Amino acid sequence: MTKVYKQKIRVRVAPSPTGNLHVGTAQSALYNFLFARHHGGEFILRIEDTDKERSKPEYEKNIMAGLEWLGLKWDEFYRSSERSIHYEKYLQKLLDEKKAFWCYHTIEELEEEKKEQMKKKEAPRHICGHKYQEPTGKEKQIIRLSVDENSTRVISFQDSVRGLIEFEQKVVGDLSLAKDLKIPLYNFAVVVDDCEMAISHVIRGEDHISNTPKQILIFEALGTAVPQFAHLPLLLGTDRSKLSKRHGPTSLDQYREAGYLPEAIVNFLALLGWTGKDSREILTKNEIIEQFRLEDVHKSGAVFDIKKLNWINSQYIKMFNDEGLVEEARPFIEKYFGEQPKEMIIKIAPMLRERLEYFDQVKEFKFFFTEPEYDPELLVWKKSDKPGAKKALEKAKEILESKVEWQIFDEKYIRSELDRLAEAEFVGDRGAVYWPLRVALSGEKFSPDPVQIMNILGRDKTLTRIEKATHK
Ligand code: GLU
Repeated sequence: MTKVYKQKIRVRVAPSPTGNLHVGTAQSALYNFLFARHHGGEFILRIEDTDKERSKPEYEKNIMAGLEWLGLKWDEFYRSSERSIHYEKYLQKLLDEKKAFWCYHTIEELEEEKKEQMKKKEAPRHICGHKYQEPTGKEKQIIRLSVDENSTRVISFQDSVRGLIEFEQKVVGDLSLAKDLKIPLYNFAVVVDDCEMAISHVIRGEDHISNTPKQILIFEALGTAVPQFAHLPLLLGTDRSKLSKRHGPTSLDQYREAGYLPEAIVNFLALLGWTGKDSREILTKNEIIEQFRLEDVHKSGAVFDIKKLNWINSQYIKMFNDEGLVEEARPFIEKYFGEQPKEMIIKIAPMLRERLEYFDQVKEFKFFFTEPEYDPELLVWKKSDKPGAKKALEKAKEILESKVEWQIFDEKYIRSELDRLAEAEFVGDRGAVYWPLRVALSGEKFSPDPVQIMNILGRDKTLTRIEKATHK
């Protein structure tokens, strides 16, 4: 049953443009999008580029292009770097209300404090002894939120995915908010933005759970409502460690370049950490939107299994008709083999539909577009020898030469003729005929059936390739 929320649903994805769009960020964006669409709410893209050193315009572009490609169209767009007046206004307000203060402790002093705390096995945090007195001869370092270190309060929140989460306030310390009025730090900027943008639900990766109690204290200091939190499970590799490059590509555009379909990626990412009401594995975006509830997001880490993605993608490839498939496959074919006539691509469309998991695999169909190259030894069937291979090729060529084009196109007929050759000359060993033919036509050990290949290559190319092989 759809949960009814009193407030307007407004959610955001807030990537930092310090790298290309990661599949994990794409998944967070997707869950925010699904939640917003399910409830008729708004989905916001907020580029968190407060880290000037590491943020790059090309990463921002990459993130936006990736989200657009997945069809996760945002309703509103913001960039943190353009919002400094908002951060400044709230910082000043907190300073004026004495909820925040300038800290004069130097890095060395903080290091010393940390060492002491570690010795006493306490959580490292800064407890500023003289919050509102300006020490003489010292410079302002950072703006901090004043947090009562003697409080026995437990900061708790009911996470939509993980249930009740609790932290002791006394381990938080006086939180850093900003380097100065113009340079806010992450936790502060996020809270100001979430509050100004009236975000109802903060749906993000579980790596942000430890930031949440700090952010709750900042929301409270600002006197605004705390949003509902939902922390999504981390993506894991197949060995169940945090997903990293060593498990395979982690940026979305690598999947795009390899010829995965956005609909398939959406389907895969949705099912990675969520189960809907039915057990089907192929679902359209609208079907997912219809079923999506935060309560059905899994608590445990989600294994990013490329095999599963390949299977889902292959199911989407199977849904194309020949024309659609030609259109999708053409850029990949032309990338490897140059411009190709549509008639040629359309001929292999059924084979592509049957075999491709993603479009970059068209490169395995090289032999349709270029002359095969192979080691002549490969022509020899394991139970035969070189003269055997030559004989098989010559006999097969004779048979095929005696046929006209339309007969070559009749796979059943050609197969029966070649089977007959195996019976008559190779004691029924079909491998002795089909193996050298496969290699002569494709140059490969593993390829589609040689009769299917002949059918696509046509009579002339087939005969030329067999002829060439007999002279190897
Ligand atoms: N900018 C943060 C990140 O890229 C996200 C912060 C948030 O969602 O609250 O991880």
